[in-house]
Amino acid sequence: MNRERIILWAALSLVGCNQPSVDPTETDNGLYGLGTSATKWPGGNVPVCFTNISDSPSLQQQIPGLLANSWSKAANIHFTGFGACNGGNVVSVSFSAGSNGLTSNPLGYGQESVTLINNDTTAGLAHFKYEVVHEFGHALGFQHEMQRPDNWTGGVAAQCPQFGNNAASQFNPVSGGNNLTPLYDPFSIMNYCDPGSNNQTQLSVGDIIGSSSASAYGPSGSCSFPATQTACVAKPQLQYDSTFTLPSGCPSTVGNWVLQQVGGGTIPTTGNATTWLIGHQAEGGVTSGPPIGSTKQFQLCDKFGNCAPPFNITIADCGTRLDSVYVSYNQTLLANQGSTGFVTLEMVGPWMNYDYGIGATGSVTSNIPNATFTFDNGYSNNTACYPNCIGFIDMTIHTAFSTPVGNYSVTAAVYDPATNITRTTTVPVAIGACTPPPSSCAGYECGTFTGCGQSLSCGSCSNGLLCSSGHCCASGTSWDGYACTPPPCNCPKGFYCAYDLTCQRNSTCKPGTCM
Ligand SMILES: [Zn+2]
Repeated sequence: MNRERIILWAALSLVGCNQPSVDPTETDNGLYGLGTSATKWPGGNVPVCFTNISDSPSLQQQIPGLLANSWSKAANIHFTGFGACNGGNVVSVSFSAGSNGLTSNPLGYGQESVTLINNDTTAGLAHFKYEVVHEFGHALGFQHEMQRPDNWTGGVAAQCPQFGNNAASQFNPVSGGNNLTPLYDPFSIMNYCDPGSNNQTQLSVGDIIGSSSASAYGPSGSCSFPATQTACVAKPQLQYDSTFTLPSGCPSTVGNWVLQQVGGGTIPTTGNATTWLIGHQAEGGVTSGPPIGSTKQFQLCDKFGNCAPPFNITIADCGTRLDSVYVSYNQTLLANQGSTGFVTLEMVGPWMNYDYGIGATGSVTSNIPNATFTFDNGYSNNTACYPNCIGFIDMTIHTAFSTPVGNYSVTAAVYDPATNITRTTTVPVAIGACTPPPSSCAGYECGTFTGCGQSLSCGSCSNGLLCSSGHCCASGTSWDGYACTPPPCNCPKGFYCAYDLTCQRNSTCKPGTCM
């Protein structure tokens, strides 16, 4: 299925690019070429023309876009022209049925010719697209991956050896090139054993690293990595992720990028393959990752260990560093008439460090009629947190039945005795109507309520019981809020009423001298 075509054309040979369909179980070397094996196009400017401008116009139209989205995004490479050929140093493109792709030798700058297939039957013209990217890789001066000399030992290729009926010249080592990536890249589009089996349409990460290296064309304007700030991704509860995202101008790749911190480990992605999680922040403080404002060196690599030059990332300040007290979750303090309600205030920032607000006290300036406020002492449920710890203080409202229904706001002041600092916050308060009690009583209760806050009116009790505060009690007892009890005993001077309702002498007094 693989036919090698070695064409001698005067002193010019062609590089056949007919590639076998095999799994890349082993690898050959990373992007290789240029050096003395091929000449770089000056300034990365590569004029392109068509030998027969009327041949395969629909295929011609696709070539500029395919190159713009691959090599031109990867490196400082600019393809121009795309008109009829008129001589000069130019890549002249022609079409041939079943060509399997050919590029004239020597590769690189000069009078270069590329022959592309014009009867491709693969889905979406995948093989034609592969040929465009692969052959123009040759035209740029890149050799076949497996032809790198360090892939060969004693006449044997370590990776991607010759197979099928491919001519040895397609596999034998080529001298004089630069190792544009130090390690073998099995995903390279210049590799006969690429994972796409000759229908791969995307560059590998190593292809981008190699073609944009200083030994090749240098980085493109759209896919370079200057010092950059991390991005801030908001999370719930005033937390943020600090992230770095691959520039959108980088070409899509077969195989994922890997971000490493120089001297450190691999950085995890966020789930998006081209966005990495540098660190976490909360309340403007770092909870993991490098400190805010620090600059660290990172480098983008492929998964095989080929890396682009390091670049700096400065960690952005992702949140307002709070120094305040505020209502948790922006809640409203809710209470009905004649009841209580509470919210928790959070204390954040240096003003309550380093005791986390423990022991803080609160007070309120209020214009809510017949309502009072109380505060528990400040507390923290995590005293091991980063300096910008969060402390808490619970604020309770006590309303009367006469407190009018409505929406209010009050100013709560929280004082931290450890720092002698007071911070204030506005607390929204909503007073709702009380829920009227049932109109009829259950169990041993009796009578009826007349409205919120009203005592039960005495009704009638059966079996000789008498009504006492809405409860039917035996004669001689009354409702004390919990049960029907006898009244306290009425003791003479010098006696007190004991818990068993008997009168006991007050032993600290002499008879007739006390009370
Ligand atoms: Zn080739």
